Amino acid sequence: MKIKCPKCNDIAEMGDDFSFVKCSHCSLDMTYGEYVKYLTYKDARYSDVLGDYASTEGTTAGTLDDW
Ligand SMILES: [Zn+2]
Repeated sequence: MKIKCPKCNDIAEMGDDFSFVKCSHCSLDMTYGEYVKYLTYKDARYSDVLGDYASTEGTTAGTLDDW
């Protein structure tokens, strides 16, 4: 079945028995387990970025309050 490639966001192919994920666009070739880990890792990093952004916003607001 076709899925979205986690690496290049193009169309990747997942085995019908969930045994592999392959993308011909960026040569992605991993097992489904690795694919899930990859997604989890990406999501975690994305959340971190959002968290950093939020805390930076908070710091900026605090600085403005001090003025
Ligand atoms: Zn790809």
